Amino acid sequence: MRAQRRLLRSMASPAASCPHRRVASRCASLLVLAATVACSDDRGPFDGERARALTQRIVEIGPRPPGSANLRKVADLIASELKAIAPALELQRQTFRWPEPTSPVEYQNLWIEIPGRAATPTGPIVVLAAHYDSKITHEGKQDFAFVGALDAAASCAALVELARHLTGDRRLDHDVWLVFFDGEESIDWDWNDARALVGSRHFAKTMAADTARFPGGLA
Ligand SMILES: [Zn+2]
Repeated sequence: MRAQRRLLRSMASPAASCPHRRVASRCASLLVLAATVACSDDRGPFDGERARALTQRIVEIGPRPPGSANLRKVADLIASELKAIAPALELQRQTFRWPEPTSPVEYQNLWIEIPGRAATPTGPIVVLAAHYDSKITHEGKQDFAFVGALDAAASCAALVELARHLTGDRRLDHDVWLVFFDGEESIDWDWNDARALVGSRHFAKTMAADTARFPGGLA
């Protein structure tokens, strides 16, 4: 019997639960804060200013709800940044429609897979994730430009900055996946668990079912 692979996740938003996965959750936002504080006197390996500048570029694109032209621009920006940092790593894209295959809005998860220095085909995978969509606004009381600077443009910028180090001299022994989820915010203004976390749930479901990639399943 083949060994199960473990996904160790860190996410900036609540994660979809999967009964077959063992999860180590942390908050990517806290990671950013810790890295920034730790480097306040000397810039250190994590460049907070560079992450802040990318956050600003994402925010300046404007509101980026699922299916919008702005969200495609942010996806292209993240893709080009990752390509410049790690040209040898292929950007993974996963597109799907929800809740039905014929639904009008197409979602797109993006990620890169950084091979660990001592990784094995059945070793654990560290997943660091953030979402790049912004909260959907609605006519009436919530009809304003919602650009999601901290939630979660800053987390995306932090992941990109981490990519710079995790693909360079700070490479880890384990495989590391940096994932950018679409469709994480609640479609309804008030949180509605049934209409949120679309990207991460799809990602978890498809990975758990991917027997070609994980012949032994996921733990
Ligand atoms: Zn969020």
